Amino acid sequence: MKIYLLNPPFVVNGQELPKFHRCTRWQGIVSRGGTYWYPIWLSYAAGIIESKGHEVRLVDAPAWNWNMDDLIRDFEDFNPDMFVIETNFASIENDINISNQLKNITGSLSMMVGPATSQFSEMILNGGVDVVAKFEFDFTINDVVEAIDKGNGLEGVRGVSYMKNDTIIDNPERDYITSEELDQIPFVSKVYKEHLNVNDYLLSHTLHPMVQIFTGRGCPNRCTFCSWPKTLMGREYRIRSVENILDEFEYVSNEMPEVKEIFIEDDTFTIDKNRIKDFCIQIKERKLDINWSCNSRVGLDYETMKLMKNAGCRLLDVGFESGDDRILKNIKKGITTEDSRRFMVDAKRANLLVLGDFIFGLPGETKESAEKTIQFVKEIKPNIVQFAVATPIPGTEFYDWIIKNNYLLVNDLGESIDENGFQKCIISYPDFTKEDIESYVDKGLKTYYLSLSYIPIAFNTIFRKNGLYELKSMINSSKVLFNYFNR
Ligand code: SF4
Repeated sequence: MKIYLLNPPFVVNGQELPKFHRCTRWQGIVSRGGTYWYPIWLSYAAGIIESKGHEVRLVDAPAWNWNMDDLIRDFEDFNPDMFVIETNFASIENDINISNQLKNITGSLSMMVGPATSQFSEMILNGGVDVVAKFEFDFTINDVVEAIDKGNGLEGVRGVSYMKNDTIIDNPERDYITSEELDQIPFVSKVYKEHLNVNDYLLSHTLHPMVQIFTGRGCPNRCTFCSWPKTLMGREYRIRSVENILDEFEYVSNEMPEVKEIFIEDDTFTIDKNRIKDFCIQIKERKLDINWSCNSRVGLDYETMKLMKNAGCRLLDVGFESGDDRILKNIKKGITTEDSRRFMVDAKRANLLVLGDFIFGLPGETKESAEKTIQFVKEIKPNIVQFAVATPIPGTEFYDWIIKNNYLLVNDLGESIDENGFQKCIISYPDFTKEDIESYVDKGLKTYYLSLSYIPIAFNTIFRKNGLYELKSMINSSKVLFNYFNR
């Protein structure tokens, strides 16, 4: 079968929004630092379907600056039996429209995937899409392809909803993919190499070009604002074997020599210290000389950090979220500011760079707590910092709390981004308004990056291994950031 996997254009005010990625944790925003994600979940699906002998075209329209005419031309040329669109909470209506336009051209089966489908399957199916896959969708797409290819109906395919005789049929949910199944998925970096251009993708905190991979899925933690455990990957932690991960590292090292860094996107890579230890030892045994970075919780200890640094780890991306313990308790983050302070001391001793993620507007936020966060960032001094506006994503506890207390200004995540794709606030509290929340994001960025005290931090980032690439990465992100300030 011929399958077309698509990250479609996002048309805002008649104009395609550049660099609009749909698969990030904070759904669909354009990054203030220039970050642009690979369509990572579609890429995993592409690898699985291709490995079964089907013909796949993977299209990332925003990465290629395609408008609708470009897309339609390419779609007609490929003439698929089935197409799959990744949607997200902010672009859902746009994506349904595009799905209908494409279906009118070839009559192929249309399918929609992404975290938003777990919450809005009815709306999507009523909008004209044929099939919706909920939660983890890479194997589910393959199950649909196999069912159609064999001439079977969708009755036996778990994890999908579809329309039959004007009635929505919700099949039972699919079990989450097991650790054994994760080891069977073709390397996503191979899919990038064959279908995409690594130079189109950027993480503002990594060396460029980079590849993003997952080595495990699911997060057992309970942060109330966090979407993926509730809308995509669940709470059950599943992992690839260390051998399988390092085979992929070796593949990148040998087949993609232009790549300067591998970023491990797992929510929970540092959760199992024994696995990390094994991973670091085997990197050394295989004599792999490649930079890698990962997300981390602040529970990571100094000894493990040192091992990671010796095995090529460059940076830890950490969700500190707030400098106020009251807020951390409200969001069930399971950490304290004291944990974060200790973590930063250890990370600096281990000579690891740190990207600190913070959010303004979480439950209980006031001007005092927001000021505390700004002071806290200045105190712990991460190498890079990101501030986000708290966005209540349907399916999360935070969303339910916002609705219950009537703090939502507009119940449409399409309104959570502006005409440039930057985050906009859609909540307001009696004592801390939408305007306050947005202004603290700008204030946080300016206070940190435009102060003299950032100069030694910048030097510390540059004067190390790969300093030239660190500098390039910093210059690229600064340009985008200044454009954001001047918008
Ligand atoms: S630890 Fe990270 S991924 Fe897990 S629930 Fe909290 S924010 Fe989400």
